Amino acid sequence: MSVRKPLIAGNWKMNLNHLEAIALVQKMAFALNDKDFDRAEVAVLPPFTDLRSVQTLVDGDKLRIVYGAQDLSPHDAGAYTGEISGVMLAKLGCTFVTVGHSERRQYHREDDDLVNAKVLAALRHSLTPILCVGEGLEVRQAGGHIAHSLGQLDGALRKVPAEQAKSIVVAYEPVWAIGTGEVATPDDAQEVCGALRQRLAELYDPEVASAVRILYGGSVKSANIAGIMAQPDVDGALVGGASIDAGEFVKICRFSD
Ligand code: PEP
Repeated sequence: MSVRKPLIAGNWKMNLNHLEAIALVQKMAFALNDKDFDRAEVAVLPPFTDLRSVQTLVDGDKLRIVYGAQDLSPHDAGAYTGEISGVMLAKLGCTFVTVGHSERRQYHREDDDLVNAKVLAALRHSLTPILCVGEGLEVRQAGGHIAHSLGQLDGALRKVPAEQAKSIVVAYEPVWAIGTGEVATPDDAQEVCGALRQRLAELYDPEVASAVRILYGGSVKSANIAGIMAQPDVDGALVGGASIDAGEFVKICRFSD
């Protein structure tokens, strides 16, 4: 039975220029102590344009904060104007990369095949994908939320061997809860996160299922993090809006308000 270290990851989305990024990471680093970093791994996911600044700060001050990107190309190099590859992200010291976020699926028409190609691209360069799955409101209301999330998991993990599957992070992010202030109940989060873990055991084996960290994301705040973290199959949170407020994010990293 593996012991999963909780992960709190802040998805800054398309917010903060590189100077604001430095200020935010400095504030976080000032507030967080060794006990906090022992309790949970703390990651920030800034826009591409901030990554170099965050890298310089983290390396220069030997911070225990890790960082990653919000997306990557399925290709490693070549004539793909505007794209950023896993090779480039690895070179910038990224640990994580978000793949299949609902905003990418919705606004950039990313389907399961593309998400799968991006997961494979991340793993090729030793980046840990934070694979986002989750249903929209209509699917939830029709009771199809588990099947929908499991279908996205299956699609994203095609051709991913067990050894690599163990290292990925899955984030259950119901679309109706993202940026809406409408958080899923702890029981809702547990229901789907538990089902995702069960599916990992079916796709691979119990060892993989117990190694993979499964996060909840969707309007997480300091006021609701404790109940979410109390769930046995929830290993952390992917935090959007609240992650660009240093004080609030630090409280979330402490699982309390
Ligand atoms: C997200 O974008 O991954 C997210 C969970 O956003 P928010 O916390 O703002 O709902």
